[in-house]
Parts: sequence; structure tokens; C-alpha cells
Amino acid sequence: MLLSKRALGILPSATLAIDAKAKALKAQGIDVISFGTGEPDFDTPENIKEAAKKAIDEGFTKYCPVGGTPDLKDAIIAKFKNDNNLEYTADQIIVSCGAKHSLYNLFQAVLNPGDQIIIPAPYWVSYPDMAKLAGAKAKIVKTNEYSGFKMTVEQLKKAVGKKTKAVIINSPSNPTGAAYTPEELKKLAQVCLENNLLIIADDIYEKLVYGGFKFSSIATVSPEVKAITAVVNGVSKSYSMTGWRIGYTAGPKEIITAMTNIQSQSTSNPTSIALRASAEALKGPQESVEMMRKEFEARRNYIYSRLNSIRGVKCFNPEGAFYVFPNIKKLLGKSYSGKTIMTATEFAEYLLEKARIAVVPGDPFGAPGYIRLSYATSMSNIKNGLDRFELAISDK
Ligand SMILES: *Cc1c(COP(=O)(O)O)cnc(C)c1O
Repeated sequence: MLLSKRALGILPSATLAIDAKAKALKAQGIDVISFGTGEPDFDTPENIKEAAKKAIDEGFTKYCPVGGTPDLKDAIIAKFKNDNNLEYTADQIIVSCGAKHSLYNLFQAVLNPGDQIIIPAPYWVSYPDMAKLAGAKAKIVKTNEYSGFKMTVEQLKKAVGKKTKAVIINSPSNPTGAAYTPEELKKLAQVCLENNLLIIADDIYEKLVYGGFKFSSIATVSPEVKAITAVVNGVSKSYSMTGWRIGYTAGPKEIITAMTNIQSQSTSNPTSIALRASAEALKGPQESVEMMRKEFEARRNYIYSRLNSIRGVKCFNPEGAFYVFPNIKKLLGKSYSGKTIMTATEFAEYLLEKARIAVVPGDPFGAPGYIRLSYATSMSNIKNGLDRFELAISDK
């Protein structure tokens, strides 16, 4: 056999696959409206691009410290202090090639074969596969719209076993947009303290919250909780910098050191130019963040109420991120345009073929019977796309 068992056990990211299919249709000149994207549709702010150009012109194009430059680490430390009132030192911070890479290194640093990691579903598609790559087992805790897509304390307690090492809290969540309140985080954190669990907080959507919701990181519950938490964040979603590939982790020094060692033997430092640009993103003017947040909020309000007006669709109103995750179970088991649709995956395929709109089925997020629509696309695309959606399901 040519390939490793590790490689054979891993599937390509389903969200990227749908996006690729929609892009391929578009390249053929077919008018596809995509609700599939997992990235902001705005351009990277000008001041950030200028900082990158300046880095190139100044010859800042060589190897850097593996875990990130001192100026970016300082900017990250200041961000945690100002935004979250969390204090970290430079040896508690590592910068990686995107938050996805941060999480990958983190899983490699803390999980042993046979360890268990608790992942609330619907989950970001990469968590279970990253656990698998570390030899660990994912313990999935299912949630639904009735609990606001949030894991309860009772569920967490029940999920903890002898082999449980860590738990993931992704708030606001991809794919549901659900976000935990400080009280909810406090109760969950208490269970983690009692059971010696590491908390992995994926805070990447911190800046994208709506309707007056106040983001809070689980690391802020108490100093004891901060000591058992690794916070992952990055510039991709807040500053529309997905292509720059900069994410970071803050946490206990020994975990950060282990992650830095792993990174030193794999990618080394993230791109020098992107490190400079990210320092500008965190230190420079923040108006563009609020501009993007406001636009997302208007779209969220529209897409949420419009979807709920469609018979058979039940949409949870998300607190953050840029996704809605409607329950479409009532639309399944029926036929459209003479075709019987049984699963959300078949439904998504039907929408792409018939209505030329791309949505992601809930199955790869651990939630069959749901679909994910990203509203990181223009208001007119959202309106037209939902018109097509309604037309496609009225065609019996
Ligand atoms: C987008 C995303 C990430 C990774 O973002 P990067 O571009 O790798 O920084 C991590 N977690 C969640 C939940 C995401 O949606």
C-alpha cells in the first residue's frame, strides 16, 4: 500500500469541496450564487495592504522567529488585554499559518492516541479530522436549535469519561452562529476544572456578533479557567484576511512551547510579510471591522427572517459569525421537479443543479437535516439566491 493509514482516514474538507464545485460552474460561465463560502466578501483594508507592501519594499522577506515576530506578539498581547482583559506574556503566544494551523498544532501538542476530545455538534468540519490525525477520538455532543445550538452542563458532564483530555468551545460557532453567554461559559468551565480538562476556545468569530450580543471568551471566567484554556484566534474573519494565513494561540507556556517545537519542525515561521500586515491589522485603525460587522448584521437580519418565512424551513437566529443553519427536515422526503430528495446532501445537490445556488449540507458538520448558508455575499445575491431557493422548492 502506497498511502499511510493516517492519510487514508482523512477526507477533504467538505466546505471547500462545495465551494470548489460552485467556482467550477462559475468558471464555465454558469450564473451560480454561492452561499457556500467561509470567508468575508470584503477586500482586506487598505492600511493592512500598505503595511505588507512596505514590508516587501523594506526587504522584510527573510526567516523570522518560528512562533512570530516580537512586534506581532506585542500586538496580540495588547489585543488580549484591551479586548478581553486577559494578560499573557510573549512565551504564552504562538503565531501560526492561520487559526486552522494553530488548532492542528495544538491538537498535535496535547492529544495522545486513545485520548478523547469532546466536540459539540454542529461542529466546524476540521475538528474531528484533526483529532483523528492526532490519533485521538472525538466524542460528539449533539445540540440543536432548541438549546440554541449550545452544549448544556448536563450534556458535558455526561460526555466526560476516563480518557477525556479536552473540550472544544467555538463561540460564535461555525456553522450555527450560536454564541455562549458568560454565565453559560462559567458553568461549562466549572465542569472542565473539576475534571482536569483542557479547554480549547476557538474565538475566531469574536468580532462578528449582532443584536447587541457581547462576546466573551471562556478564558475570562477566572484565572483558574484561563490556566487550563488555550485560546485560538486570528485575523482571517475579523479583518477579511483569509488568504494571508495568520492565526494565533494564547495559553499555558508548556503547551505553547510544544506547539512552537512542532511548528519549528514543519512550517517554521508564517510568511514574514503577512506577520507585518497582521501587526498593522491589530494595532491600526479598527473602523473597517465595525463597517464589516454592521453590513453582516443587516444581512443576518434579512436572511434569518426571509428563511423563516419559507414553509418547511426553521431558522435559528444566530448571535454571530456569518452563517445561518436552518433546519430543513420538513422539506426532505418529498419530490421536487420529479426527483425525490431524502437527505440534506441531496437537497444541496438539487439546489445547485436546479436553482444554481450553492449551500453546504449539514452532514459534514455532524448535523443531518440542516443546511449552512453563508451570508458573506452581497445583499442582492442573498435576495436573488433566496428567490431561487423558493422557486426550486415550489417546483414539485
Ligand atoms: C475559518 C475558521 C477557522 C480558521 O481560520 P484561518 O483562516 O485558518 O485562520 C477556525 N475555526 C473556525 C470555526 C473557522 O470558521
